[in-house]
Amino acid sequence: MKKLNKKNSDLVIMKFGGSCLQDPPSFNQTTNIVEEYLTNSNVILVTSALKRITDKLIEFYNKSCEDGADCQDLIKEVKDRHLRFINETIDSQREEYSEAISYIDENINELTQLGKLVKLLRPSLDIQDIIISYGERLSTFMVSKYLESIGYTSNFISSDEIIITDDNFSRALPLLDETEILVREKINSILEKNQGEIICITGFYGSTKDKKITTLGRGGTDLTAAILAYSLKVDYKCKVIYWKDVDGFLNADPRITEKASLLQKISYIEAKELAFFGSKVLHPLCLDVNEKGNITSEIRPFNKPHTDNFTTITKEITKDQKIIKAITSIKRLSMVTIESETMISLPGTAAKLFGLLGENNINIKFISQSSSENNITFGIDLEDSMKVSFLLRNSDWFGKQWFSIKIDNDISLIAVIGAGMLQTPGIAGKVFTTLGENNINVRAIAQGSSELNITIIVERKDCVKAVNVLYDAFINGKEIEN
Ligand code: ASP
Ligand code: MG
Repeated sequence: MKKLNKKNSDLVIMKFGGSCLQDPPSFNQTTNIVEEYLTNSNVILVTSALKRITDKLIEFYNKSCEDGADCQDLIKEVKDRHLRFINETIDSQREEYSEAISYIDENINELTQLGKLVKLLRPSLDIQDIIISYGERLSTFMVSKYLESIGYTSNFISSDEIIITDDNFSRALPLLDETEILVREKINSILEKNQGEIICITGFYGSTKDKKITTLGRGGTDLTAAILAYSLKVDYKCKVIYWKDVDGFLNADPRITEKASLLQKISYIEAKELAFFGSKVLHPLCLDVNEKGNITSEIRPFNKPHTDNFTTITKEITKDQKIIKAITSIKRLSMVTIESETMISLPGTAAKLFGLLGENNINIKFISQSSSENNITFGIDLEDSMKVSFLLRNSDWFGKQWFSIKIDNDISLIAVIGAGMLQTPGIAGKVFTTLGENNINVRAIAQGSSELNITIIVERKDCVKAVNVLYDAFINGKEIEN
């Protein structure tokens, strides 16, 4: 195996999700990819649970909390999936085969015991986190043993040893400084001894400072990869590759317009806007962490590892491209308007409003307030509309003062996104002229001070047309020059 010099050597951190580990052929594909990158760089693999195993473990936890019925079947299903995998991928004559089988046995026994414990204790998110972390533990150990069985030196690391988080169970946030120390210590001690060894790290979970297992939220393995790159950036030239079942970020929602095409280059600040407006390609926080670490990342299609069609995300904003990078949309949204003469004389209304909504877990998609200050308009998920109506009408403040509350459930949000609109006059003008010429009525407008997007609210019946005409005007057509 090729030996590399540590100082400034390349380190590729690759994230493989559940769909890269769904059957022996995809397992094989994963190995081929790793092998290829290993010739020029160090490789860290970060893996999710086998496909749908996290859902099964959540079900196991829930059933254990109730009456425990069907728990045995569920645990057997989880065990059999893993055993089948080992049987199909690892040569049974090898030592790694029996190591993998005993690991599964031991851990499934632990899980069974935990299930019994849940029934005795009060259900809590911290126990749920321990239970669902087993998905990544099992899959990653298997991957590591498989790689050893075909001749690689592979190191398995359980991420609770190196990733430290807060104690917000089920959606924990990483503590980057503490984590960096542990990650550097662990990874450097392996790679200093032997460059080119593979390191397999479990995705999705970490632990609190007092060693309680936490998970990073669904899809959290993306975030694990980002955290590792952030932590190792001082020692290596790090890059993260997220192997996905899509080609990368698209510049519009393909369900809304067939014109949607792949974005080959995009900056983190723009990618975050895309994520906010509905693109679910990556765990949203991993964009922040990569940006903070100034790490370049790639989203690549797992089934086409050699294609040039993938998305590269960098901290710098590429100037050579179109000013507007994407036209995104959220088709189903509700818009709430609160109106009152009293807002002028009653400061703190906005604080009361958003405080109330925040306490009740309502996610706000946009806010706009006219300068006359007698109304506030904001957007929420359609699913939250009834809840918001109830909260406002029953609140001491909004229900009893002189407020009128209007909720419109037939609206869509469209966001025109691009970092180039910074200091480029005329973009907003062109948006509204385009919509006006096409007879599309604009119900509300919002623009963040970051000037990365212009958000327009239209009637839902106009959503598809609006996205298409804006796409033609900004992405297919001639743009306003810088
Ligand atoms: N296995 C976890 C989930 O299904 C984490 C991940 O896939 O990234 O959410
Ligand atoms: Mg998953």
